[in-house]
Amino acid sequence: MVVKAVVVGGGISGLSAAYYLQRKASERGLPLEITLLEKDSRLGGKILTESIGDFVIEGGADAFVSTKPWAVDLCRELKLEDRLQEVNLQKRSVFVLQQGKLVALPDGLVSMVPTMFWPIIKSPLLSLKGKLRMALDFLLPARKEDGDESIGELFTRRFGREAYEKMFAPLMSGIYAGDGDRLSAQSTFPLLREWERRHASLIRGALALKRQRRQSSFTSKKHSIFLTPRAGLAEIFEALVERLSKVDLRTGIAARDITRYREGYQVTTDDGQYITADAIILATPSFAAASMVRGLDPTLSTLLGEIKYVSSATVSLAFREEDLHSPLNGHGYIVPHAENRAVLACTWTSSKFPHRAPKGYVLLRLFIRITNSATDHDPSDEVLIEIASRELAKTLELIADPMFTRVYRWPSATPQYNLGHSERIAAIQGFSGKYPGLFLAGAGYTGIGIPDCIHSGKTAADNAIEHLIQRSISRRLKPGKVL
Ligand SMILES: Cc1cc2nc3c(=O)[nH]c(=O)nc-3n(C[C@H](O)[C@H](O)[C@H](O)COP(=O)(O)OP(=O)(O)OC[C@H]3O[C@@H](n4cnc5c(N)ncnc54)[C@H](O)[C@@H]3O)c2cc1C
Repeated sequence: MVVKAVVVGGGISGLSAAYYLQRKASERGLPLEITLLEKDSRLGGKILTESIGDFVIEGGADAFVSTKPWAVDLCRELKLEDRLQEVNLQKRSVFVLQQGKLVALPDGLVSMVPTMFWPIIKSPLLSLKGKLRMALDFLLPARKEDGDESIGELFTRRFGREAYEKMFAPLMSGIYAGDGDRLSAQSTFPLLREWERRHASLIRGALALKRQRRQSSFTSKKHSIFLTPRAGLAEIFEALVERLSKVDLRTGIAARDITRYREGYQVTTDDGQYITADAIILATPSFAAASMVRGLDPTLSTLLGEIKYVSSATVSLAFREEDLHSPLNGHGYIVPHAENRAVLACTWTSSKFPHRAPKGYVLLRLFIRITNSATDHDPSDEVLIEIASRELAKTLELIADPMFTRVYRWPSATPQYNLGHSERIAAIQGFSGKYPGLFLAGAGYTGIGIPDCIHSGKTAADNAIEHLIQRSISRRLKPGKVL
């Protein structure tokens, strides 16, 4: 007997969920109808690659880490492994803006924690006092309390406030576009807590991981920590879509709400369709999931709605190499809060990924924070380009007119795993018994990076398949049914 699954959301989490549902159902001999609903006219969510001539422009995510296996595994399955490119290891410096000047981050950071002493000693980024304070990480006892703390508190406790503000906070805001004094250490970097517990030192923990990585084939010479397909991340979701031959992909249709229907659920769409399902995977931002389950369970909806998101925009600009005053020897720079700029980071895309711009040209990408305040107007493209151009003129003395610009807006795009996040996730997971067959996936819960999103889609698919098999068996065994 055919069972039905609906995946809501066509970002990397939802597409991965649909892919693993299809694959697992076929492996287990389960007749399964899969429908995927995506509200936008295009698939991919926060992955958006555009090609302009020989330029490859990433509007959203631009690479993934190979230290978490799920993205590499999926690329291998999709036969994309040979398409994966490393970032340019010859020019791998990352800079921090300090009083308007670019200062290189010390080499050898592992999960943001230094593992090489000489680069720290030589670095002009920190004062002597700041460096000596960092060394206390070797002597300070591990924190005894079990509860969570902010990532700002954790780094300040171990390394001092100066190192936190000048090094770690800008790195954090490059990832989460958020405030390290609010972000939960447990939910964003659980490894750091683990290192402190196990080694009584973050540096010793990072050194142990570095040794382990050297021995593993996973981050061997073949793979650098950051990877991306040659023609951009869209290659992944395009390959996924190609394989979803048995999935009914419906774009331009938003799921509006979810209600119980017999032993399963019914999805109502904004164009008035009713789709019944034995299992549903909600792979949308958590505020969208909150809205869909409001009628089903207001408490669950409130919990989902409490996960906050921040907005940003990226502006990509292309120039001729001769427009630059000096070559871009690195991957770009990050901007600490104290510099008081609208820009969070600037990636020197053509230097980080040499295949993303034709020879003789440079491609730069600026990451701009957009405040969510109701009183602020959404800045126009012209304003965002103006902000980006002013930043480039100030920091790189780059005043030439760009050959072209591209603006991508990401409203409420990056979830903030603020203090209390892990308790909220545990409370949300507590509803799984009450709503069998309803699963969540996506960046809002246990990891915002692409590998984590793929993992969340795969886990939701695995759980949905087990549920659907049980459903299929119980239907066949219903009294009066002839087997
Ligand atoms: C600017 C930027 C840069 C980033 N850079 C990186 C990076 O370099 N590396 C990295 O690993 N990660 C990066 N990230 C994070 C990563 O890209 C995202 O966390 C990830 O792509 C999210 O995938 P997702 O499928 O969970 O969500 P999304 O991509 O948000 O997909 C969810 C989908 O659900 C759809 N949807 C919402 N509501 C409904 C509804 N009611 N019905 C139907 N569909 C609905 C949305 O339209 C969307 O397509 C970046 C994020 C941003 C914003």
